[in-house]
Amino acid sequence: MSLLTVENISIGFEARNVVAGLSFQLQPGEIACLLGASGCGKTTVLRAIAGFESLRSGSIALNGEQVSAPDKQIPAQLRGVGMVFQDYALFPHLTVAGNVAFGLRHLAKSERQIRVQQMLDMVGLGELGQRYVHELSGGQQQRVALARALAPQPRLLLLDEPFSNLDVELRERLGQEVRAILKQTGTTAILVTHDQREAFAVADQIGVMSEGRICQWGTPYDLYHEPADRFVANFIGEGVLLPARLTAPQCIEFELGQICRTAPVECCVGCEMEVLIRPDDIQHNDASSLKARVLAKAFRGAQFLYTLGLPSGQTLLSLVPSHHNHAIGEDIGIELEMDHLIVFKK
Ligand code: ADP
Ligand code: MG
Repeated sequence: MSLLTVENISIGFEARNVVAGLSFQLQPGEIACLLGASGCGKTTVLRAIAGFESLRSGSIALNGEQVSAPDKQIPAQLRGVGMVFQDYALFPHLTVAGNVAFGLRHLAKSERQIRVQQMLDMVGLGELGQRYVHELSGGQQQRVALARALAPQPRLLLLDEPFSNLDVELRERLGQEVRAILKQTGTTAILVTHDQREAFAVADQIGVMSEGRICQWGTPYDLYHEPADRFVANFIGEGVLLPARLTAPQCIEFELGQICRTAPVECCVGCEMEVLIRPDDIQHNDASSLKARVLAKAFRGAQFLYTLGLPSGQTLLSLVPSHHNHAIGEDIGIELEMDHLIVFKK
């Protein structure tokens, strides 16, 4: 049975629906991420799952038990759902240990102390229990917030942009650490973020959101390699869309060649299409007759990200090992793995 079932929910404020017919399910132990631009409704969905927003339609069930419907709302404190907020919401007048102990008042003192220490050890703050929150760095405060939320063993943990106050380097690392801790404790969780690197680092499954809907639900790998539409293709990863045309039932032609599919493409011959070209779809090969001009380059250590110009004026991005060190203005040979390219109907 699913741990969480969100079925066709709509949530609105006054005349406006900000979440419209959204559905997804989570299996026990799974980590999902809602990924989308600011204002698309991510926090509203989390608040509804936690029990702080009512539904206009649809339903939410935890372990098969309905907790939200238009005429029903089980109170937040009875749901067993934990939450970690963007600003951590830690108590400044309590020590680190006091913060973590906050949701454990039902335990005997000795048990509570053991559990607090376990939680602090798990997040790597075993020595800092007696400090106050203002004596910690941002990354350490985030870990306290996670320890506090995990201490009562919630059946579902919701994390709302938990790393957005941290610098970019720390975000990805902490994301991986949080993932390891959630997996270690078998916690089912939903992370909300607008940052795809963070989503990739943490999630088993990602729901890409736009305007209160989920455009695609899938693994990070599938979203990158098989985006369902142009919106997801543009939102996830880098890449450009080049104009193309279906010239035979299975063949698409574009500026850089022909893509032939094994099955007919769902489009009439002659119809306009677009080919998605990711930076990793292009190889540099001096022997290739396909030429592009280096317009710009960014050194990334192991790789260069090149901006390449085509004769038509279209540009491409290409990420290649940095021993391919070309000068700006140079014409270079490129190759594409045609089989991997993704094509959309325009
Ligand atoms: P996100 O978390 O993806 O940035 P939110 O869920 O916070 O987006 O908000 C989605 C939309 O709903 C926004 O346009 C926001 O202004 C609106 N909204 C959120 N909460 C309220 C509220 N309590 N009253 C009115 N509008 C709200
Ligand atoms: Mg938000």
